[in-house]
Amino acid sequence: MNWLGFCCVYCQQKLAVGQHGLCSRCSRQIYRFPYCGCCAAELATDELHCGQCVREPPYWQRIVIVGRYAEPLSTLIQRFKFEGQFWLDRSLARLLYLAVREARRTHQLPLPDAILPVPLHHFRQWRRSYNQAALIAKWLARWLNIPMREDLLIRLKRTPTQRGLSAKSRRQNLKNAFQAQEKLKKCGYKSVALVDDVITTGSTMNEIAKQLRKMGVEHIQVWGLART
Ligand SMILES: [Zn+2]
Ligand SMILES: [Zn+2]
Repeated sequence: MNWLGFCCVYCQQKLAVGQHGLCSRCSRQIYRFPYCGCCAAELATDELHCGQCVREPPYWQRIVIVGRYAEPLSTLIQRFKFEGQFWLDRSLARLLYLAVREARRTHQLPLPDAILPVPLHHFRQWRRSYNQAALIAKWLARWLNIPMREDLLIRLKRTPTQRGLSAKSRRQNLKNAFQAQEKLKKCGYKSVALVDDVITTGSTMNEIAKQLRKMGVEHIQVWGLART
């Protein structure tokens, strides 16, 4: 195990000083692309909105992703999420941190007042013993010097995996699954970033964004490692 990052977490090659877990060759293999700054759809050039987002905007305003859910990112996320390799948090967070910095340049991304990891249901978190989104969010909070708050959002329902469901049953599934806490109003955060590992359909994020808006948050960003 490479606790200290001496070897690439993907190909096991020796790392040069100053690299963060992933060697430059593996990092270059991540499928990155110009994207819509709102929904992360692949575009020919970086834009703030695509046609779809103009017609039917999501409940959030901005999105940041590292790249497509493909090798080597997909395997790293799988290992991080399902194989208990929580120590990959720093390397993965580093990629997202660089993507945020890149979006500051390409999408004029404003930084939020707070970073909120997407919560797991307490049962799932108990089984896994950690919330992978919170591990990533913690590093981002530290590097960007923005508070990370795990206490403002809770997950009320255990939602089965969203994959393979129709849009309608997905929405049904997610109804009242999340709750933004009253104390969010007192915090006075006008702008927050939601952090999750993989953004699949956006329906989870939409559901959370709705709850955040009810508590007075005006600007919502979605930060994720990969878009499927
Ligand atoms: Zn490598
Ligand atoms: Zn879009």
